Order: sequence, then structure tokens, then C-alpha cells
Amino acid sequence: MSNIVTTRLEGDIAVITLDNPPVNALSFRLREPLYAALETLGTDDGVKAIVIACAGRTFIAGADITEFGTENALKRPNLPDLCALLEDMPKPVVAAIHGTAFGGGLELALACHFRVAVPSAKLGLPEVKLGLLPGSGGTARLPRIVGPEKALKMIVSGNPIGAADAAKAGLVDAIAEGDLGEDAVLFAKAKLAEHAPLVRVRDRDEKLAETRANTGGFEGLIKEVTRKARGLEAPVMAAAAVRNAIEMDFDAALKAERDAFIHLVQGDQSRAQRHLFFAEREAAKVADVGKDVQPRQIKRAGVIGAGTMGGGIAMSLANGGVPVTILEMTDEALERGLGMIAKNYSVSVDRGSITADEKDARLGRITGTTDYADLADCDLIIEAVFEEMPIKKEVFGKLDAVAKPGAVLASNTSYLDVNEIAASTSRPQDVVGMHFFSPANVMRLLEIVRGDKTAPDVLATALEAGRRMRKVPVVVGVCHGFVGNRMLSARSSEGEALLLEGATPEEIDKAFLDFGWPMGPFQMGDLAGLDIGWRNRKSLGKTAAIGDALCEMGRFGQKTGKGFYLYEDGSRKPKPDPEVNSLIEEKAREAGINRRAISAEEIIERSLYPMVNEGAKILEEKIAQRPSDIDIVWTNGYGFPIGKGGPMFWADLVGLPKIVERLEYWYGKTGNEVFKPAASIKQLAATGGSFSARPA
Ligand code: NAD
Repeated sequence: MSNIVTTRLEGDIAVITLDNPPVNALSFRLREPLYAALETLGTDDGVKAIVIACAGRTFIAGADITEFGTENALKRPNLPDLCALLEDMPKPVVAAIHGTAFGGGLELALACHFRVAVPSAKLGLPEVKLGLLPGSGGTARLPRIVGPEKALKMIVSGNPIGAADAAKAGLVDAIAEGDLGEDAVLFAKAKLAEHAPLVRVRDRDEKLAETRANTGGFEGLIKEVTRKARGLEAPVMAAAAVRNAIEMDFDAALKAERDAFIHLVQGDQSRAQRHLFFAEREAAKVADVGKDVQPRQIKRAGVIGAGTMGGGIAMSLANGGVPVTILEMTDEALERGLGMIAKNYSVSVDRGSITADEKDARLGRITGTTDYADLADCDLIIEAVFEEMPIKKEVFGKLDAVAKPGAVLASNTSYLDVNEIAASTSRPQDVVGMHFFSPANVMRLLEIVRGDKTAPDVLATALEAGRRMRKVPVVVGVCHGFVGNRMLSARSSEGEALLLEGATPEEIDKAFLDFGWPMGPFQMGDLAGLDIGWRNRKSLGKTAAIGDALCEMGRFGQKTGKGFYLYEDGSRKPKPDPEVNSLIEEKAREAGINRRAISAEEIIERSLYPMVNEGAKILEEKIAQRPSDIDIVWTNGYGFPIGKGGPMFWADLVGLPKIVERLEYWYGKTGNEVFKPAASIKQLAATGGSFSARPA
């Protein structure tokens, strides 16, 4: 007898307990004995009802994704077999849910006749997050219980719902206030006593009929899914599967769902999303920071600068439960910054994303000051003042004087040398970069910049702070722009040349949108403000014919109503501007360039291949620990499409020999150094290697 599946009798009720740590995933080693136990109990006349419960911290939290692509995944009984057996049981089956009933776990519970859950339980079908759809009846059964509209929202977002919400929707039949196992047995006994009819979920049609009678709302939701999918297949196919549940008979819908699942699981998009799932976990592992390295305690934090970034960072800390003192130069600047924070929280309350009480609690954790002495009891202080080395050094000098021994001193610098900042203190081992992304209270990426002297436990503290703020921390080394902004420079390097040679801003942006980016580079420039790059170029003695000319015309982007595009009457919708096209043509003439049609393929090659090449150089220099860390930076901080898995994973999909060949071609044609292939990418291409197959 397997100890993964055990059965005990409580009178005439059989309780099956699953124990497959850590999350009771539906591995073959669980499916096989569970199927056998159900077959036995199904024909045992002494057993009147069955309860399925789980040991450990959760109900079945999903399929075993480490099994995907292996022989075990295909071995029968598979999950559809189990669901069919459960649904056809001649006696009531009750799922007893605690923790998370996710994915295959919820599909199995949906095939039971009843579901009992503890108040803290969460139920959801998160498959789309891995580029998949529920493949074992989830899209056919969930709409029959909660209605097609709610099912569609749950399946397409992948977000779980709580037990109370599930009970309201009919997904949970009873909430267990006492001991779950006992309550589930009592529930089964009560159903037997009432002679409750055994209704199979597959036979329920009331909710489907309601939608069939009035399809408007449902079809509206489907349109929205398609619009928001941005090239991702899984949400669109998941929505179609829910529609099948309404339009087809149950078995046909089930078959269509299974076919769609198999199509997705074998496709590149799901491979890419599964790669990112593991990459995110991998990124938390840092050389020399083992489990034995304890993070320092963070009871109170400080933030220097209450501007765009400082305000967002203070909010992130407060959201994570950490009290924060925010320091500004003047009372006016402080008032402005605190006012902006309060306004942002109010917007969240209006949107319903937090309650008024939560807003008060979070705001209550933030205090302002203009006096450095008030930072003396902070365990972590994050600086977010202007991006100028002399100012940063002055601030760190002051921090060195007031911060308590052992306090972690972090800089949110975008480009500057963290070693130089650290050297302006007497404690460089306590200094680290913590590079947030704008808006800092929303964006998940956190680049943690490890200086030459940063102590391992300081790194561990920065990682822990990142987790408390619900960020995705990635440890990187010191170089100009670290991983993200350094590769962004490579991506933008050919922008002006493409314009001069014949592309328009909207053609370039469209190529990016079609690739799956949320925004093209010129839309992004207009949003961020073109004057930032202009000032930066001037300070470095650099020029950009078109970008500079636009700024000289006062076209700074959205904030001035004009940039690479026109923004009419305060609208954020970019409109192509003939004046910009004339300017581009004029600059091309001045440079003696004959403009020509430029394909989307060329735009992608000249923008994204240099990024991949820069990524390879970053790996050679050990600025990033592993290729997958770069993928995490780009998908979480810059909108690289998740269905392509990040730049390094995507490069493998394209094929490194092709990338090297095109880099060499463009290097020959333009002489731009960004195309000169890195030694490592050439070597990988020549030896049939790939980034994603590299050892971590
Ligand atoms: P900002 O101009 O909005 O805010 C800077 C704030 O710092 C201002 O409120 C200013 O009054 C205050 N300040 C300046 N000197 C100070 C001092 N000596 N003591 C106390 N306060 C002082 O700038 P920002 O966009 O928030 O950028 C801040 C830092 O974050 C920069 O290093 C920047 O490179 C970095 N960063 C910015 C972004 C972004 O998208 N804006 C993203 C990542 C990192």
C-alpha cells in the first residue's frame, strides 16, 4: 500500500488522505494509487460516501509541472481518467479543501459531487500563467457551477478566489468552521441522511442556459480577452474553451479542451512561460549567500528623497508592513511628496484595490522628516535623490554619520557606480544598490546591485526586503546601467538610424507591438519625456539628430502634447504627426541618406539582436549570474513579452547561429559596435549550445 494515498473508515464514510509533499501535486505516483483506491471504494457496499482530503499545508495545489514533457505525464490514469471515475461514482464524493485548490487540484474537486472548504482556502485555475489552459475539464465544469462569466474571468486571469466568494458562487457547498476532516465527514453524513440526489456537474445546465439566453455580456468579455492577450494564445484559447462549454455537449467540449491543452503544452509560448516560472525561483539563489547567511533585521526603514521614486519606494515598504521615515530637503518638497503618496492610496481605494482601512494603516506607517537625525534607528535606508554622483556622495556621507552600526545603506541609482558611492562611507560592506522601476509601488522588478565590498548578509537583507515588498529581486553586478538599462541602451542604439534610413516612428512602434511589447520605443520615449535623454546626451557630449531637434522645438512628449507623436486635448493616444515625418525626411536629406522601405523584420533584428548580444557580454562579465536572470529583468521591468520568455530564451528560439550571422551582417553594414558579436555567443552558436541549456 502506498503511503501517499491512505484510506480510513469513519463508520460508513471512507476518508482518503493524500500525502505527496510539498503541495500534493498530481504526480503519477499519486494518481495511480488514488485511482485504485477509488475503484475499490466505489464497489464496496459498506462504504456509503467518500471524502477526499489532503495532509500537509494544502489540498492538491496543481499538476506536477516537473513531470511535463516526461513519460510520467502521459501515463494513465491521467487526471481526466480520475475526474471521470469520480464524477460517475455511485455514491457522494466530497472534496475537503484547505490551503490552495489550484489547477488540476480544483479540476479534481470539480469532478466531486460536493466541496467543503476552510475559510482561508483559495480556489483557482492558474494555468494561463504558464501559457496553458485547464486540460482536465476545468473549462467545461467550472462554468456549470459558477456561470460562464465568472468562470471566464477566473480562468483567463488565473487569479484564485477565496472560500467566502467561492461559497457565494456555489463552488463551495459548505465552509468548515471547525476541523475540516470532521466537518467534511459530517457534511457527507448529512447528505446521506437527506437522501440528496447525486447530481453530476457535467449534467448541470441552469447557468449555461442563462448565458445562452443572453450572450451579450459573455461575448463582450471574450472580445476584451482577445484585445488584452497581445499575441498570447492561452487566454484566447481558454476563453474559446469556456464558450465551447456553452455551445457543445459536455464530451465534445471536454475533447476540444484536451486538444487545446495538448497544442499549448507543446508550444513555444508555454515553454517560455514555464521557463520564467522556474527562472523567478532560480533568481533568488545567489552565489555566496547560502541558507546559513542570515539577513539583518528590518524593523524600520528610511527613504531619502520624496520624488517619483522615493514616494513609490516608501509605499512599497509600507505595503510590506515596514514603518518608513522619508526625508526631504525642504518642508515644501516633503509636503508635496507625502501629498502624492496619500493621493495614490486614495486612487487605489477608489479603484477598489485596497480598503479605506488598509489605506489608513499603510499611510500610518509613513512619517516625514527633514532631519537626518530621525534616521538613526533605521535598519535599512534607501536613497532616491537626483541622479548625480556628487549629490549621492554627500547624502551617503551624511548617512554614514547618523545611521546606526549595521544599518544597510542602499542607493536606487539607475546608472551610477555603486562602488564609488560605497567608498564615500566608512562602511562600504553595508552599501548595496536597490534599483526599483517606475512606478516603484507597482513594478515588480528589483535589481539588487552587489558592490565589490557588499557583505553577503547585506545582500541577503536586500533580498529579504525585496520579498517583503513583494518584488522580484535579481542580483546584478556593477556596470553602467546594470543589466536592464545597459541592454535598453543597446536596444535603442539603432532607433535614429532606422528613422533616417526610412522607417517612421509608428512603423517601428508597430513592429514592437506586433512582437508583443506593450509599447513601442517612441511611445515609451514620449511617455517618459524626451527631455530626459536630451539632457543626458548633452551632459555626455552626444547628439541624436531627430531626438535633439524635437526637444529644441519644445516637443518633450506627452507632457507637452507633442513628441514623436501628437497628443490631442490631453489624450494619451499617440497620433502620427506629418510634421515629424517632414523633420525626419529633412534630417535624412542633410545626412545624404536615400530613404527606403524598412521591414518589421529588419526593425526587430536591429533593435533586439543588439540586446541579446549585450546580454551575452553581461554574462561574460558576470554582471548577471545566469541567462534566466536577464530574462526575469526584462519580462518584469521592461515589458518583454512573457510568451517569448525574455531576450535570452527568445534568442535560443530564434537560433543562435542565425543571430550571430545577422549581427555580423549588420556590423559589416553599419560599423555599430552593438552588433559586434560577443565571443560567448559566437562560441555557443558554433558548438550548438544555447543560453537556456547553460548550467546555472
Ligand atoms: P525626482 O526628481 O522625482 O525625485 C528626487 C527627489 O530627491 C526630489 O524630491 C528632491 O527634492 C529630492 N532630493 C534631492 N537631493 C536631496 C538631498 N540631498 N536630500 C534629500 N532629498 C533630496 O527623481 P526620481 O525620478 O525619483 O529619481 C530618483 C533616483 O531614482 C535617481 O537616482 C534616478 O536615477 C533613480 N531612478 C529613477 C527612475 C525613474 O523612472 N524616474 C527609475 C529608477 C531609478
